[in-house]
Parts: sequence; structure tokens; C-alpha cells
Amino acid sequence: MKKNRLFTPGPTMVPESVLLEMARPIEHHRTAGFRKMFEEAHGLLQYLFQTKAQCVTITGSGTAAAEAAIVGCCPTGHKALVINNGKFAERWEKVCETFNINHTTLPIEWGHGANAEVVTKALQADREIDTVICVQSETSTTALSDIEGIAKVTRERGAILIVDGITAVGAIPVKMDDWGVDVYITGSQKALMLPPGLGFAAVSDRAWERIDSATTPALYNDLKAYRKSLEGWDVPYTPAVTLIRGLLHVLRDIKLRGLESIWAETALLARATREAAKAMNLKTFAVDPTDSVTAVMVPEGVDEPALRKEMRERHGFHIAGGQGHLKGRIVRLSHMGYVDAFDTLGVIAAMELTLIRQGFKLEPGSGITAAQKVLAEANK
Ligand SMILES: *Cc1c(COP(=O)(O)O)cnc(C)c1O
Repeated sequence: MKKNRLFTPGPTMVPESVLLEMARPIEHHRTAGFRKMFEEAHGLLQYLFQTKAQCVTITGSGTAAAEAAIVGCCPTGHKALVINNGKFAERWEKVCETFNINHTTLPIEWGHGANAEVVTKALQADREIDTVICVQSETSTTALSDIEGIAKVTRERGAILIVDGITAVGAIPVKMDDWGVDVYITGSQKALMLPPGLGFAAVSDRAWERIDSATTPALYNDLKAYRKSLEGWDVPYTPAVTLIRGLLHVLRDIKLRGLESIWAETALLARATREAAKAMNLKTFAVDPTDSVTAVMVPEGVDEPALRKEMRERHGFHIAGGQGHLKGRIVRLSHMGYVDAFDTLGVIAAMELTLIRQGFKLEPGSGITAAQKVLAEANK
């Protein structure tokens, strides 16, 4: 019997134990029981983001948390720099446009990440910039930006740094306080291996100062309202209690396994996948690849929608296509959350079979052999 496996970079697979946990009866949120659960989850979120900062949980997707942070941190009188190297960065530019936020864009070629050098140049060119918005792991292109390096630059400048860590937090190294990031964002359906529906923003004291200085209107997405409720381990509006129950379960497990070991595991799966692609004579897209998701270029003569359809319908592997001008040119495989080496060998095997059926010249087993070598090396 065919088994379905979700390999998209969000949503991702949810562990059975989490599904069972979330099947328990609904508990009302204005209760001591909920507050206790939320307090523990908050402490674990701080571990997840590696911070002492307050972590806001919004019922909504990651975009809700990002919008709340951008609008809150960029009131009139301030100017943002949006680093744009992909589809999600474009969304943050769109938030600025929608809310009339004074901003400028630093375009970076797709597939590349941003680093301290390019951000330094952009800040030197425009003295008004006091906020920088950057995507750490740009899921659309699978490029990684050097947040540690960029944060050094924004700190020197005294600028606020907002990082979209939606496919970074819980998958690859994120050290909010060590690096000096002001706002870190993530969502539930990527590395946190939960269903979609929760957005998170970890907000530094510096960022709160900025947010407090503003009179920008916001209601549901007003971070200040969430901070006030947090004082009593509460939330301003009815939260997705089911997801918060699942969140606590997942975060306890993450703490138990340890972030370092999770980062290492994600990196190993990414390396195995990249080596498999190379051995299959396939190119990967990103110049500065992230480890949370890999983009493999679809070879000449292979029909991309048919490749994905066959992977899903014949073999049960749901992989993602490309976005924007990468539509039809790449497929993307996730390494986040509830996925292991054997799922990963499976997706590579299914890709081999599908490519061979499509007439692509390929020695069966070449990809999995290369991946297996990486795994064997790490297993010594
Ligand atoms: C998925 C994703 C988003 C969008 O998050 P939603 O939860 O769908 O709103 C934003 N940024 C990145 C990098 C993502 O991977």
C-alpha cells in the first residue's frame, strides 16, 4: 500500500504522537490549565529562539507574525531596508507598500544569500535606514543569508533587525541573543512539525522600545496587546488551543533532543540530498544553500508538473515546485521536522524512478548510493 509523505517546505509532516495529543478534548483558554500550558510553552519558545526575549504567539500563519513585527517596528519617521532575494522577501516589501512604510529595497540575485558586506554598503548609501528586514532561509530559492554577520552591522548602526526565520528556527542555527537580532519570526507548519495556524515573534527590548514609541494603528496584530496578555500567561483573542497543546508537546521533544543535534541532523539530510543530486547529474539551484530545504533543477526534457504529479500519485511523495520565475525549473525537498534519513533515501529513490520513466538517462541507485555514503560516513 502506498504511503503518503509530505516533503514540501511547509506544511511538513506531523508526528503521530502530536496528532494524538491534539485529538484530546478542547480546554477553555481562560483557565489555570491553559495558562500553565502557555507559560511552559513560552519558556520553551525562548529556548527555541535562544533568547530571553518575550515570545508572542499569534493564531494565524507566519505572515501574521511578520506583518505585526514589521508594522510595529516601522512607524512614521523610520525607514526600512528590505533585503529582497526571493518570493518571501517580496512579501515583506509588500507589507511595507501596503502600510505606507518608508522603505528601500536591496535586490539580491535569486539563489544568493545576503551578508554583512552588502548590508554595510546599503546602510552606508542611505543614512536614514534604521530597520533591516531579512529572510534567513529564503524558502523560494533555498538560499541562506548570514544573519550573524548582518546583525553585527545592524547593531553597530543602532538599527533594528527583523529576521524571517520561518524555515530556519528549529531547523538550522538560530541564536537570537548571541547574534543580537531584534525580532525573529517563525510559524508552526515548517520545522516545528505542527499543522499550520500559529505565528511566533520573539521581540527584543530594543524592538519593544520602538514598538512602544509608535502610534501606528493595529488591532488583531497589535504586538502590544499580546505582550500585555503574556503578563498573565494569556492571549488577547481566542487562541488555537489545539495547536498550542501540540506546540507544547513538540517543544518539550525539541528540548529533550537538543537544538544542536536537530541542526546537525537537518544539515546531514541536506548534504545527503545535495550529494545525491550531484551523482544523478542534477544541479542544485542555490549558490548559498540553506540546509532546511533543497532546490534541485529540473533537467532539460523533463516535464516538471508531470514529475511532481508522478512522484505524488505513483510514489506518495509530495514535493514542491518553484515559485515566480523558478516555476517549472526547480523542485524543492524539505529537510525540516519529522523527516528522517530513510524518508530522505525514499524521496531520492522515487525521484530516480520518476526521472528514468521520463526518459532521463540515469543509473538506478546512483542518487541513493551517494546519499547513503554521506549517511554511512556520519554513522561511523
Ligand atoms: C512559509 C514561509 C513564509 C510564509 O509563512 P506562512 O506561515 O505561510 O504565512 C514566509 N517566509 C518563509 C521563509 C517561509 O518559508
